[in-house]
Amino acid sequence: MIQQASTVDVLVIGGGIAGLQAAIDLGNLGLRVAVVERQPSIGGKMIGLSKVFPTLDCCSCICTPRMAEAEHHANITTLTYAEVQRVQREGSGFLVDVLKKPRYVNEETCTGCRLCEYACDVELPHEFEGGFGARKAVYVPFGNAVPQVAVLDMDNCLLCGRCEKACPVGAIDYLQQPQTVQMRAGAIIVATGYEMLPADFKQHYGSGPLRNVLTALQAERLLAPHGPYGRVLRPSDGKVPESIAYVQCAGSRDLSKGVASCSRVCCMYAIKQAMLLAGALPLADVTIYHMDIRAFGKGFEQFYQNAKAMGIQFVKAKVARIDEDDEENPVVRIEVLEEDGRVEERRHDMVVLALGLVPGWDPREAGLAAPAEDGFLRCAPSAFAPTQTWEEGVFVAGAAAGPKDIPDAVVEAGAAAAEAAAYLRARRSSPTPPAAAVPVPQPALAAGV
Ligand SMILES: Cc1cc2nc3c(=O)[nH]c(=O)nc-3n(C[C@H](O)[C@H](O)[C@H](O)COP(=O)(O)OP(=O)(O)OC[C@H]3O[C@@H](n4cnc5c(N)ncnc54)[C@H](O)[C@@H]3O)c2cc1C
Repeated sequence: MIQQASTVDVLVIGGGIAGLQAAIDLGNLGLRVAVVERQPSIGGKMIGLSKVFPTLDCCSCICTPRMAEAEHHANITTLTYAEVQRVQREGSGFLVDVLKKPRYVNEETCTGCRLCEYACDVELPHEFEGGFGARKAVYVPFGNAVPQVAVLDMDNCLLCGRCEKACPVGAIDYLQQPQTVQMRAGAIIVATGYEMLPADFKQHYGSGPLRNVLTALQAERLLAPHGPYGRVLRPSDGKVPESIAYVQCAGSRDLSKGVASCSRVCCMYAIKQAMLLAGALPLADVTIYHMDIRAFGKGFEQFYQNAKAMGIQFVKAKVARIDEDDEENPVVRIEVLEEDGRVEERRHDMVVLALGLVPGWDPREAGLAAPAEDGFLRCAPSAFAPTQTWEEGVFVAGAAAGPKDIPDAVVEAGAAAAEAAAYLRARRSSPTPPAAAVPVPQPALAAGV
């Protein structure tokens, strides 16, 4: 079913911190904005993080107000559990098809009371908790999800009817269908963020099959104040880990396979996690195996020095492979780079992989121009329009343009909002916008060559 097209000034694709910040800035300028987010809640990766480097502020405490502000802003409409399917040029703007996936729960009537969740008997690994802990087949995605609306996982639903009976407002709708919503927008901001390389990407690192080898995003959940276990325990047996190791550049700065470039945030989040572990488990040994530490931002070097002073061990070494012993302790085989290049095996209780970061979305899926060779969106090379892509009227914000930390993503979001607003103003005051503001796509670059 296709709904009648609604019109907004700017469509933001992606409801992570960058997309939300861009939407709020535009909304505050009086422009109408729609945010399309493919997950059932806005918030992106940030809402799942424990604390932020280098201040160690609680992530959820600073992200949740942003999510609420966007959701309740008079000029912003959020569409969750929705994906942009097709973007077409129409006059001076865009006609966009957005697929709204069925939640099997009526968004208008659901109050987020969770009675459906309590009634459901199905238990599945909780994605938001990195696969640790359990969720039901019908569930509110996480405690501070926005909107507070349940979603029913039809692939795992037994259709037993218990949730339907438990719902006091009759919100369960097993027959809900996907809907295509059409939107007209004057400009687009792509804020589709990043994903981590899959956990089993480095097979010789044992991630996936080895239960005590975690991804860094899983480690964020173990360290989060409202994490799955309420404290740091290793997944295989619930033991409090006494020795934890970080493996840096697991798939990034890897010219043969994986991501050739530096993922920019891994050194700092590993140091952050190591400090949080040292605080939570004062007797534990924490080691970071790295090629070098890139502490380039404001306050980062001091943060690194503080970690060293806390007793976190930094070992310049290449990790060749990770196996496990009979008690599921990961055994790390390293080549020490600092000294004589000797090869050693070291046993830890738990290992965390800083896997490389890759783009969250390929814009070609919606008919937009090809990204750069690394898959992240390509910006036009103008110092005065840093968020303008090679496509007229399309801007980029946050990690969609390449891995970056939250402050940089927020600054870029503000810049994208300002550039999109200026673009719309120029468009409206003159049918042909100034060439400097809107670069003409170069065919070779647009084709990703
Ligand atoms: C383990 C780890 C720890 C980190 N710790 C810190 C830290 O302490 N401090 C710090 O500053 N930074 C940290 N970062 C970096 C931080 O996560 C990013 O800076 C931030 O999340 C970037 O925000 P974003 O909105 O650009 O992207 P994202 O957070 O990835 O959000 C993108 C959003 O777009 C949505 N989306 C994607 N494709 C589509 C589509 N086609 N349609 C609709 N929606 C779509 C996604 O679902 C997501 O919600 C950490 C990163 C990692 C991996």
